[in-house]
Amino acid sequence: MNVYVSVDMEGISGVADWRQTDPGKDSEDYDHFRALMAQDVNAAVEGALAAGATGVLVNDSHGSMRNVLVTAIHPRAELISGSPKRMSMVEGLDASFQAVFMVGYHSRAGSPGVLNHTYSSRVLAECRFNDRPLGETGLNAAVAGHFGVPVLLVTGDDVVAREAADLLTGVRTVVVKQALGRYAARCLHPERTRDLIREAAGDALAARAGARPYLPDLPLRVELDFNDSGHAEAAELLPAFERTGERTLAFTAADALYAYRMARVAIRLAAI
Ligand SMILES: [Zn+2]
Repeated sequence: MNVYVSVDMEGISGVADWRQTDPGKDSEDYDHFRALMAQDVNAAVEGALAAGATGVLVNDSHGSMRNVLVTAIHPRAELISGSPKRMSMVEGLDASFQAVFMVGYHSRAGSPGVLNHTYSSRVLAECRFNDRPLGETGLNAAVAGHFGVPVLLVTGDDVVAREAADLLTGVRTVVVKQALGRYAARCLHPERTRDLIREAAGDALAARAGARPYLPDLPLRVELDFNDSGHAEAAELLPAFERTGERTLAFTAADALYAYRMARVAIRLAAI
């Protein structure tokens, strides 16, 4: 049984501020939190191995995607480090995996969660697949669904936990902190969250028969609302995108992987 772990940083135990997640921005705490990132991941890896996983692939999915140090990761896991990657937060995921874990995830742009955003807090206000607003949990779950793989575990704050439970059939969630706002959280101690994550990872794999891959109806209508009209104008340079509103672009995708990759192109163009 192969388990794929995508690890972001905003939903890691104790994180409540961008400065704790960014090595370049007044980063007095970054080294501390990159170590906690590895610890939350390792708890999920340990739970997976105890439940019978034979292979675990961890993909560093935050910022530069060079946060988790290879020596900090569980020795039986492999680590994808660095960027850009063709499939970004789900690089390396394919039909050879039986489960996806999302560790340290955050809620979607527009929600009240800690450090909420969808790929780019600077440019993107909302992303919709078939009229449903999705954050990174939903977008990456759709790619996993494209390969027939269910998301079994999501860890982060209470807001992303609700977002995941609303969207994904059979998912287990671990709330490592309660959101008090976008920049404040009431946090459990990492020793406790590690126990909760390890236990939930094992339980999730044991109960995986009840989980379903996330499969939005195809073809997918994708809409992206940007923060201002200039972002939409920059992304509109690619003729695949249709301008449907003052700040909105749309396109239709035959499958979720194409939708995901094109949405990322639009966000990248908008950010130029
Ligand atoms: Zn991140």
